[in-house]
Amino acid sequence: MGADRDCVLEQTPEDLKVWLRERGEPDYRLAQLLRWLYEVRVDSFDAMTNLPAPLREGLEGAYGFPVLDEIDRVASSDGRTERFLYALADGEQIEAVAMEDGGRPTFCVSSQAGCKLACRFCATGQLTFGRNLTTGEILAQVTALARAGGGLRNVVFMGMGEPLLNLDAVAPALEALVDEHRFALGVRHLTVSTAGITPGIRRLAGGSVQPNLALSLNSPFDQQRSEIMPVNRRYPLEGVLEACEEYASKSGRRILLEYVLLAGVNTSPDHVRVVGRIARDLRALLNLIPFNPVHGCGFESPDKDELYRFRAALERTGAKATVRFRRGREIRAGCGQLKRRHGQLKPRRGRKGAEKPRG
Ligand code: SAH
Repeated sequence: MGADRDCVLEQTPEDLKVWLRERGEPDYRLAQLLRWLYEVRVDSFDAMTNLPAPLREGLEGAYGFPVLDEIDRVASSDGRTERFLYALADGEQIEAVAMEDGGRPTFCVSSQAGCKLACRFCATGQLTFGRNLTTGEILAQVTALARAGGGLRNVVFMGMGEPLLNLDAVAPALEALVDEHRFALGVRHLTVSTAGITPGIRRLAGGSVQPNLALSLNSPFDQQRSEIMPVNRRYPLEGVLEACEEYASKSGRRILLEYVLLAGVNTSPDHVRVVGRIARDLRALLNLIPFNPVHGCGFESPDKDELYRFRAALERTGAKATVRFRRGREIRAGCGQLKRRHGQLKPRRGRKGAEKPRG
């Protein structure tokens, strides 16, 4: 997209309506245009075959589509998870993942190229930060995934990057996703996941679209949390949890607490006790994510025993906990494994242990 042209995916229907009117186009052109963009999901004006050529040229002169070139695509062996690697206009690379669960696709999108937060267990954190994505680049991932897999139901901001450090682009993307004339998703089908950016959570609470909010908790103790998630030094847990409380009461939604289980690190009885209390106080749902191997970070996944013991102990505290399926792990599309990795995977050596970190 040329620098002089506006991104068409960043235009509200009202913007497009005004533009069409100024050109003297009949009103029904708006519905045609929106249909191409959000139902057929084309990525060029040329493809809009029922629009007259001069109008297509006019659109082409005024607007562009974000560049999102698919450079790699790997599907899991059961075909239910697919990881996409895209190149942006300036060569930055991002990943997005489509997951299918009982016919209900979930799209996991990136909000930044790379990440600034350097969480120690996360592959994206090992990358240098590239830049914030634009609203159009975020939305283009949704369109591309929907085109690739058909259907669109859930969108989670759990790909690369910290969405609450790019709210200027994420907030308008949320608006587009729930707009009935654009992506028309129910707000319940949107989830923003954060490592705990206190002011971002508060800003989202005051925003026009309030998606489900997931907080990556990972440790209930400030000292340990700061070690594995350096962002905790800037925004200590107490303030983060207060902001979550505010979010829950303003939005009327239940907070989701994500907890990456690191064997022998954050699964002790003390962890259970405090995590349980935090979850109860917030009336949050806990989502336990067994650590997905990330090369060189030194952590290990818990075995089944450790996982189920932790979960059972948590439930005895009265907290509600689900275990997240190890979705996409074999293709490194699991949580925390997104790393602009290009090219083929090593052959799998066995179901388990094949990707244990070597570090
Ligand atoms: N920056 C946001 C969005 C990324 S979401 C956030 O931190 O929430 C990615 C989720 O995957 C987070 O819940 C994170 O805690 C989790 N995660 C990161 N690395 C992981 C790993 N190696 N295995 C399992 N989950 C991981």
